[in-house]
Amino acid sequence: MPDHSPVRIGVSACLLGRDCRYDGKHKRDSLLCDTLGQRFQCVPICPEVELGLPTPRPAMQLQRRAGEIRLVVPEQEKDLTEAMLAYARRRVAALAEEGVCGFVLKSKSPSCGIWDVPVYEDAAAASQSGRGLFAETLMTRLPNLPVEDQRRLQDARLRENWIARVFAYARNSAP
Ligand code: SF4
Repeated sequence: MPDHSPVRIGVSACLLGRDCRYDGKHKRDSLLCDTLGQRFQCVPICPEVELGLPTPRPAMQLQRRAGEIRLVVPEQEKDLTEAMLAYARRRVAALAEEGVCGFVLKSKSPSCGIWDVPVYEDAAAASQSGRGLFAETLMTRLPNLPVEDQRRLQDARLRENWIARVFAYARNSAP
């Protein structure tokens, strides 16, 4: 019997309208919600909330310390790198088990951003080229999974290309 259940994708929860950002707000992306909601079953994931952090919460940032990228909460002088990596490894393994076939991630987030996350050195922004720790774990552990940045999916051509890759991934991973 062919499986007609909808293809599942993971989506940064704030893009779907969940009030889970550090400031207690969301970043609902109407275009994505309308387009993707019609074609996929969206699984909302907020790595920071799933890590057990409250909403609202002090903002986090990536910092380069002794050559390593760390996830820190400057206001509390807390380093959440190990906790986030441990959570991300567990969650990504579970997502693979659940049959997620693609992922859309919020840009610029120190947890979810793919390409353009500020990396701070001391108090100054040193570069805009870091990757959030959840995104890094997802893309390292599931290298063939179609993962995209929400902003790139505003482009219709890139969006259709990504959607085609998600369906191909679903076909190739079907039992
Ligand atoms: S960007 Fe990621 S970690 Fe931040 S609120 Fe959105 S889903 Fe949560």
